[in-house]
Amino acid sequence: MNEVKDMMVREFEVLVYKKDIKNFHLNVLPPNGKVRVSVPRNVSDDAIRTFVIKKYHWIKKHVESFQEQERQTKREYVSGESHYFKGKRYTLRVEQAKRLKIEVRNKRYIYFHVPEHYTLQQRQNYYERWLRNELKKELEILVPKWEKIIGVKVNQVRIKKMKTKWGSCNPDAKRIWINLELIKKPREYLEYIIVHELVHLLERNHTRRFKEIMDKYLPRWRIYKRQLNEFIL
Ligand SMILES: [Zn+2]
Repeated sequence: MNEVKDMMVREFEVLVYKKDIKNFHLNVLPPNGKVRVSVPRNVSDDAIRTFVIKKYHWIKKHVESFQEQERQTKREYVSGESHYFKGKRYTLRVEQAKRLKIEVRNKRYIYFHVPEHYTLQQRQNYYERWLRNELKKELEILVPKWEKIIGVKVNQVRIKKMKTKWGSCNPDAKRIWINLELIKKPREYLEYIIVHELVHLLERNHTRRFKEIMDKYLPRWRIYKRQLNEFIL
């Protein structure tokens, strides 16, 4: 049986698991950045505390990134809000207009022209349609590029809002799905997911062979994978 206990270390609530293991493991968990450490059974509270404090900055950074992600999900589409687009942070500027339009300006602002009477839901729908369209443009360039490099061909690429996955693949139908959220991330992450899903056309499961193919085409894929998994959806 694992022994579990709660501990406060500075401002963090730490969930401690004592297990039959040799090393310390530390995670910051979604969705709200709870800290979990797994430690060998005979370790003292002081040793745990020292370990957590040593990792203080790392933990803080990750806890904050989760909290930021939480905030990101509750958008009101009003001026001043931060919105991520292609890996950069933009400030939203909402302007009243008769015709709907969204444009990126000066690498800093996303201008959202919207009729005054538009509800939150309508704003959100339009904004998402815009994101979807931007992602589609990226996919139209990147998918053929990687199909050529890897030597595969998909029948269909679809964009979908997904809660737990960045992408998925149906190798029989040769169809891939890409998470809409990826348009907010740096392009390398989007490319990593495209490559990952295309490689499933050659190898269905995450086997050793799958990883070897990934290594061949995208040597840095492990870094992208780890960084993507630090974001929550
Ligand atoms: Zn996969």
